[in-house]
Amino acid sequence: MMAIDDLPPLRAVIAEHGLSARKALGQNFLLDLNLTAKIARAAGDLTGADVLEVGPGPGGLTRGLLASGARRVLAVEKDARCLPALAQIAAAYPGRLEVIEGDALDIDPLDHLTPPYKVVANLPYNVGTELLIRWLTPESWPPAWSSLTLMFQREVAERIVAQPGSKAYGRLAILAQWRADAQIALTLPPEAFTPPPKVSSAVVHLTALPEPRYPADPAVLERVVARAFNQRRKMLRAALKGLAPDIEDRLRAAGIAPTERAEQVPLEAFCALARTLS
Ligand code: SAM
Repeated sequence: MMAIDDLPPLRAVIAEHGLSARKALGQNFLLDLNLTAKIARAAGDLTGADVLEVGPGPGGLTRGLLASGARRVLAVEKDARCLPALAQIAAAYPGRLEVIEGDALDIDPLDHLTPPYKVVANLPYNVGTELLIRWLTPESWPPAWSSLTLMFQREVAERIVAQPGSKAYGRLAILAQWRADAQIALTLPPEAFTPPPKVSSAVVHLTALPEPRYPADPAVLERVVARAFNQRRKMLRAALKGLAPDIEDRLRAAGIAPTERAEQVPLEAFCALARTLS
């Protein structure tokens, strides 16, 4: 296949800068630049786009983003050992890559990028979920990002896109699908990474809706959904008993049978229930 740029292969970059993968930082690197270009394409047309990349590591995905035409990439990396490799990429794409050494959980991209920007990341699983929840729950909507293209453990990716009636359906599906379109763009076997993680991974692509899919107060919706799924085997009239003395009537008003379980209830009905409780 054609090289995506004139920089050295990633194995050489890793050897040159001594970037042995650190487990504590969740380092599982992607070394195939055709694959990183494919992930960059999953983020949509990047021509002229501003991109926030979290956890660039040795820069495989960063190179994919720049080669795909991103106007500007802001890359936030916690591991200082990666900075010289990233500086080489910045030099090959003058004025287009800014690298910040730091924890993505502490950085406000708006200090560096003009919204709306796209977010692309291959991150450790725990940081990825925490960031996803933050990105989906900003103070106001629409958010500063237009899309999120994120690598997760496959099981987590399936929870994000899950539909009612499935075991994977829960708070994460509701949170994600209430304010975004979410789909799995590609799945990757463990061997796609160096070193390989224990389980398969998947890239989820979310695009922000201009406004939430159905009206509801975010705090009330979150409270209802948290209670409903904390006791997901219970009928909703029992699981939600503490929310209102007349919870059965409110469930019926929202079109939900009080004997249903959370797993069966579509997003639209949870929003209707949140409205009756607001
Ligand atoms: N994007 C690279 C790739 O695809 O090969 C590296 C992926 S590796 C799974 C995760 C990267 O995120 C590592 O480089 C790690 O140092 C970095 N990282 C871990 N926690 C981070 C955090 N809180 N903020 C920023 N970067 C972090």
